[in-house]
Order: sequence, then structure tokens, then C-alpha cells
Amino acid sequence: MTIQDLMNAFPDANIKKNEPLSKYTYTKTGGPADALIFPKSKEEVQALVQWLNENDWPLTILGNASNLIVKDGGIRGATIILTDMNKISIQDNRIQVFTGAPLIEVSKRAYEAGLTGLEFACGIPGSVGGAVYMNAGAYGGEVKEVIRKVTILTREGEMKEMANEDMDFEYRHSILQESDDIALEVVFELAPGDKEEIKAKMDELTYLRTSKQPLEYPSCGSVFKRPTGYFTGKLIQDADLQGYTWGGAQVSTKHAGFIVNIDNATATDYIELIEHIKEVILEKDGVILETEVKIIGDDLVPEENAGRILINKAKTSLKSKFSKTPIIDDGIK
Ligand SMILES: Cc1cc2nc3c(=O)[nH]c(=O)nc-3n(C[C@H](O)[C@H](O)[C@H](O)COP(=O)(O)OP(=O)(O)OC[C@H]3O[C@@H](n4cnc5c(N)ncnc54)[C@H](O)[C@@H]3O)c2cc1C
Repeated sequence: MTIQDLMNAFPDANIKKNEPLSKYTYTKTGGPADALIFPKSKEEVQALVQWLNENDWPLTILGNASNLIVKDGGIRGATIILTDMNKISIQDNRIQVFTGAPLIEVSKRAYEAGLTGLEFACGIPGSVGGAVYMNAGAYGGEVKEVIRKVTILTREGEMKEMANEDMDFEYRHSILQESDDIALEVVFELAPGDKEEIKAKMDELTYLRTSKQPLEYPSCGSVFKRPTGYFTGKLIQDADLQGYTWGGAQVSTKHAGFIVNIDNATATDYIELIEHIKEVILEKDGVILETEVKIIGDDLVPEENAGRILINKAKTSLKSKFSKTPIIDDGIK
């Protein structure tokens, strides 16, 4: 089976061949997807999954790609990106959304409708599906508190509804991380609120986020989960790793839990820097850092890699591949 067979089977589908995923990822890194598919409906996703199963093709799901590092070799087989499936409908206290909708947009629409409960999400750049998968949260809120039910598609191609209690939500975890099922639609249940208070809360959280996070650079948000009893940022700062630069990736000088792409970083730069941080913290503090960001895809094949190594070496000789840059307080480029 070839990509052309897939295109012939779905002549109306939006399918891009050999599409660079660095165009979509928040880190602006990552290799190409063999076939990147943009479905528009739940039924289209279901038909695609069934066809891919019948033809034994691997499938990867992307939302807004804000919590992902796609390796430089890219993704083989089919990659479904759900961002074109983004309808949002509001009825009474409930918001029903297709999971490609941006969580920030859902939070804004909740405010406009005078509904409270999603203020915490006003700056989380993921899709609703990615937020379900991760049980995304911020400033004391998590999506698990406002989700009533989720329509999922199993990898066997069966659509079913899951109640909140069935989703096994925990800190940055949902059952989807084990089942590999695909979230297609979500019903949020919110409460009526005072629009001015909702707006004031969202403004306050936006201020906190923009003053503390290096939003002026590409990144994937907090790279590591919070280890019990520690703060990741403090561990990294105390290990004198803030400002460390590896290739084009740097431990942010503004927020040590972020790795920013300051100079055409590759996914390999990101992954090597993550490994280095993990090793240093394990050795210094005995703490195992677990990544919150998901690392997916293939390494570059050796032939292509040869070229990359040369590029990395050239970068290294220019500015020392592993170097410490001075900490700039405001993080402005
Ligand atoms: C600047 C910045 C700030 C951030 N701040 C926060 C924050 O405050 N709180 C927080 O929790 N996160 C934060 N994040 C991380 C990220 O936005 C969240 O984890 C978000 O929920 C990821 O959603 P996504 O659509 O981008 O998922 P993706 O990155 O596209 O995917 C992440 C994982 O979810 C899976 N997935 C995506 N959609 C679906 C679906 N529909 N069904 C099944 N699986 C799916 C993917 O396969 C992948 O394994 C931040 C990221 C950035 C870049």
C-alpha cells in the first residue's frame, strides 16, 4: 500500500505527502510526516482509522503539537492532525466541542457566554483533545474538573462515550495515554458566572503567564513533570543549568522548566539537552525527572544523520555546542 492508495481511497480528504512537521510543532522542530491528514468530522476519522487498520498502517495523532517533540526523522505511516475539526457549540451550561478546537478559544467562548470554570485554561495552547490526553491544567485548575463526557474512537475503529469517571484523570494523565484511543468530542459542564469576574481572572492569569514564561520563543511548555516534593525549575537552577545551550536549544533564562528554540534548534538538540538535564539532576539530587512532553517519531537514518552531524559540528565550533549564556532577566530577544 502506498500514500497514493490512501489518497485514492479518500479522494476528498486533505492529505499532504512528506509534510515537514516543524511547520506545526510549537518548538518549530521535527522531521516530515509521510502522510499528514486533516479530517473534518468524527466519521472521517473513523473511516480513516478503519482503512489504516485494514491496510496495516501505523497511525499517529496530533492536536496542536504544543506538547510534542517529533524526532528529526519524522513520522512513518499516517499522521492525523485534528486542528480542522474544531466546531464549538454552547447550550445552557454545556459546551460541546470537537477535539481539534483550541482550548484557549473554548475558554474565551465560555467567558463570552458568561460561564465560569475554564478561566485557568485561557493560556494553554493545546487543542481540546491534547488537553484531555494530558489532563492539562494551570494555576490550580485541570480539565478533569469541567469535563462531563468524552466521545472516543478506539484504535479498532469503534466510537463510544466515556464519562468523566472512566477517564482515569490524574496529574497530567488520562486513560488515553494507555489505551491509545482518540478523543473526538468533549462536553464541558460549566457554571453561570459573573462576566467581569471571569474576565478579571483571565487577565490576571494572562499577566502571570506572560511575565513568567518565555512566550517570545518557540517551546513546548514545561518539559518535565513536577517531581513529588520538588520544583523542577528550582532543581534546574540550583544545578546551574539555566541558560545552558545545546545546538539551538536553550534552558530558558526566564523559566528554567522551559527549553526554548533560540537558533534553529533541531529535535535532536532538544532531546540531547533533555537527557543531559536528567543525568545532572539524577546525579546531583537523586531525583528522576520524567518528561511531560511526548517524544515521538523516528531518528534520522544514518545517511541523513551524517549530514546533520556535520551541521552540528559546524554549530559547535561557532559557539561551543554546550555553552552557558548569560542570564537575561526579561528574556527579551
Ligand atoms: C508556551 C506553552 C505553555 C503551556 N502551558 C501549559 C499549561 O499551563 N498547562 C498544561 O497542562 N500544559 C501546558 N502546555 C503544554 C500543552 O499545551 C498541553 O499539554 C496541551 O494539552 C497539549 O495539547 P496539544 O493539542 O498541543 O497536544 P499535542 O502536543 O498535539 O499532543 C500531545 C499528546 O496528546 C495526544 N493527543 C492529542 N490530541 C489527541 C486526541 N484528540 N486524542 C488522543 N490523543 C491526542 C498526542 O498523540 C500526543 O501524544 C504548554 C505548552 C506551551 C508551548
